[in-house]
Amino acid sequence: MTIQADQEAVNIVTVEALINGQNVKSLSQSTKENPANPTEIVGYFPVTTKEQAVEAIEAAAAAFKTWKKTDIEQRVASMRRAIEKIRAAENEIVHLLSREHGKPLYDAHGEIYVALMWMEFACNEAAAALKEEIQEHDHGKTILSYDPIGVVAAISPWNYPIALSTIKIAPALLAGNTIVLKPSPYAPLAAAKVAEIIASEFPAGVINVVHGAADVGVELTTNPHVAKIAFTGGTETAKHIIKAASDTIKDMTLELGGNDAAIFLESFDVNDERAMRRIVVSNFLTTGQICMIAKRVYVHRSIYDQFVEKYIEAANRWIRIGDPFDPDTTVGPVNNVKQRDYVLSLVEDAKQRGAKVIPLGTILDQKLFDQGYYLQPTLVLDCDVHDPIVVEEQFGPTVPILPFDDEEQVIQLHNESIYGLTSSVWGKEEDAILLARQLEAGTTMINTAAVQGLDVQFPFGGVKQSGIGREYGTEGIRTYTEQHVINVPKMLDLPYIPE
Ligand code: NAD
Repeated sequence: MTIQADQEAVNIVTVEALINGQNVKSLSQSTKENPANPTEIVGYFPVTTKEQAVEAIEAAAAAFKTWKKTDIEQRVASMRRAIEKIRAAENEIVHLLSREHGKPLYDAHGEIYVALMWMEFACNEAAAALKEEIQEHDHGKTILSYDPIGVVAAISPWNYPIALSTIKIAPALLAGNTIVLKPSPYAPLAAAKVAEIIASEFPAGVINVVHGAADVGVELTTNPHVAKIAFTGGTETAKHIIKAASDTIKDMTLELGGNDAAIFLESFDVNDERAMRRIVVSNFLTTGQICMIAKRVYVHRSIYDQFVEKYIEAANRWIRIGDPFDPDTTVGPVNNVKQRDYVLSLVEDAKQRGAKVIPLGTILDQKLFDQGYYLQPTLVLDCDVHDPIVVEEQFGPTVPILPFDDEEQVIQLHNESIYGLTSSVWGKEEDAILLARQLEAGTTMINTAAVQGLDVQFPFGGVKQSGIGREYGTEGIRTYTEQHVINVPKMLDLPYIPE
């Protein structure tokens, strides 16, 4: 461990629920441990009661009455001040995120980078995206406005707790809504700190934060004062949410699981070392715990053997498993035991079915590895196209590589998944784009994958069971509005309606 890590270790962080501008104590608290060293307590977070969750929703509903009337310049100015405060506190936030999550420091900085890039974009675009449109036309006059929806329940997962909270907070508030955020109990501290920083620039009640697991989530998804649910998480959880919200027909944006394929065409150059590093990063960044990570790799049979050889070389070069605070570390522990055991069970299952499992990378500190929630990354070969390791979302440090013979076959393998979040095609650009057009996915990247090909200026989301709606881009702002049409027709009395 570095000296910095030792200094951090003495700082135990306690976060409280934030309701109507006040930190609210809870009767009971949960402990957040460090996944790299589970005996170390990183901090405490409250178990919000149902009554407190209701208070938070009511505070947001009360604040909405005035917040919705504020003008866009005021909202943007507040958000820009919040961005500056986050930037000023970046190092502190990054260390906390790294300790509670297990992601290496460079990766935690990367998360803040993406979060701020989006918040800046949302600030720059909000006025134009939300501008009322007035049209004089042959049939009369129409005013189209983008009105705020009301109280937004923002429910975020543990893998990118800050980026996937701010992806909701920024556009929701800029559009004039108020919010109740519930971060994941697997990584609640840094997200709560960031939400607190943002809240300090907004009136009381505009942002509220509650903590806990499914029971608090259920209050957020059933309470009649909540008008919209912005959820990022697993597809199975989303099914519960859809059912829970059906009684009050809430607006929803759902960003869910994925089983993103990377397809390598015959024209891909296996000797391109940069590209090989990109695919390895696309498989193992954040220890494989990203919705849009490449989770299954298909390679044209003509280059398959060479590809696997070069892939192993590149993976062994890039993957260094160690202390998240060690600058040499590229891959940290898995965030929690449940996830680690699930990934392990998929790999064991693949072995039982006759697959070849190849460990990748270097373990920098065996003692740390043994004590934390670590899992050595693996490559899985010789598996069947329908084995669980291929068709399930593993969400961890293992990846199957399979050969394919022709494009029709690989398109079918890609599209028969219940998921459709992102995918990638690698090879000659024109060929790759041609194939990409036939893939069922929200985003397809060419010659790169995962966050390396993410562009917050464009809408992001999944098709099929990977989600409903889009975040990022102009759509990611307008999704927090209701379109309201005020129509002044020239012809007030329709000719076919009898006197
Ligand atoms: P999860 O579904 O277990 O939990 C997500 C959030 O929902 C947590 O805050 C959790 O406490 C809350 N929750 C759980 N049950 C609930 C209920 N019944 N009602 C309301 N809220 C409830 O997901 P996770 O394990 O935190 O995250 C991993 C999953 O998220 C993966 O499937 C991953 O692909 C997905 N994900 C998707 C995206 C995307 O943009 N599409 C991004 C990141 C992660």
